Amino acid sequence: MVVNTGTTLVMRCPECGRLERHRISRFALVGGRSSLQINCSCGALKLLLTSRDKKVNLQVPCVVCGAKHARLVSARTLWSSGSIELFCQTTGLELGHLGAEEQVRDQARLDEALDGLDFMADNFFHNREVMYAILNHVNDLGKAGRLYCECGSHRIEMDIFPDRLELHCSRCDNLYIVYAETREDLDAVGRIWKIKLARHTFTRLGQTRETPPQP
Ligand SMILES: [Zn+2]
Ligand SMILES: [Zn+2]
Ligand SMILES: [Zn+2]
Repeated sequence: MVVNTGTTLVMRCPECGRLERHRISRFALVGGRSSLQINCSCGALKLLLTSRDKKVNLQVPCVVCGAKHARLVSARTLWSSGSIELFCQTTGLELGHLGAEEQVRDQARLDEALDGLDFMADNFFHNREVMYAILNHVNDLGKAGRLYCECGSHRIEMDIFPDRLELHCSRCDNLYIVYAETREDLDAVGRIWKIKLARHTFTRLGQTRETPPQP
């Protein structure tokens, strides 16, 4: 299982021209903090992210024409595996891009992701205890091979939100939502012994009765 915990900006600096990559954690843009600046090591501003509901506004000082270009993207696209090209809206030249890098994603295993979450988790999750317990249970199902898609793939990506987990099949894009907010959510997850992603279903864990096979 792969956990999407952020994205990577690869962009040339509008001031000094250095090409650098910047890891951006999705947890840096939560709670009271609705905007985030990404700066070059020279100090120049490269990207300003401002969150609005389920969208994020990206503002880029342009190295080509000197203007500021803005672009509104969905939070889901930004923090999932989607790739976003940033370009000069006057000349059409590419300025940089945002996206998950394969090796970065592969490193973001759940245990490391949880370690990284600690400092933000209090503000981020609606119910931290429930979320942690559910994350661990889903992780156990993944390790046991009991988290898979009906297409046959076991390569499942997980996006973490304040109130839920979204499990995506990286082959066919099937989606499964696990709510992780209340005691009832936790009880429901505790009864689950496998998760199968299916086409066009937005299954809410706990609404489907699943019981382990009786010996
Ligand atoms: Zn610079
Ligand atoms: Zn431009
Ligand atoms: Zn699939």
